Amino acid sequence: MDKKWISKNRDGQSSPLLAEIKTCTSKDTMRKFFKTLLTYWGIALACVLIPLLHFVLVPGFFLAGIYMASKAFEFRYQLVEGSFDCPTCQKKVHLKDRWFESDTTAHCDSCGSKAYLVPMEEQTSRS
Ligand SMILES: [Zn+2]
Repeated sequence: MDKKWISKNRDGQSSPLLAEIKTCTSKDTMRKFFKTLLTYWGIALACVLIPLLHFVLVPGFFLAGIYMASKAFEFRYQLVEGSFDCPTCQKKVHLKDRWFESDTTAHCDSCGSKAYLVPMEEQTSRS
């Protein structure tokens, strides 16, 4: 379960990802589903108070909530909190509460480059 993860850039440079990444259980998925759904529906409820725009915003956030919450069933991993050294400029990049299916990307704030966060074994089998 404890896979090693790395960050790498397009040029193939990589650095270790120091993060707590857990495999999602069905309980985590349901919690994420309801949290997302209630957040969107809460916004929809608050939009009732906006004159005229509420005709668009309330059903919009209601439906968007169902759509966004259903994405919780696609996620397999949750990155709770962590960081990595940008493979391009070596500056530290912090990550928090990120859900993803098999791998994910992150942008470095210092140099703006994109880093791919992938499991270690996947990286070695590709190259
Ligand atoms: Zn960078």
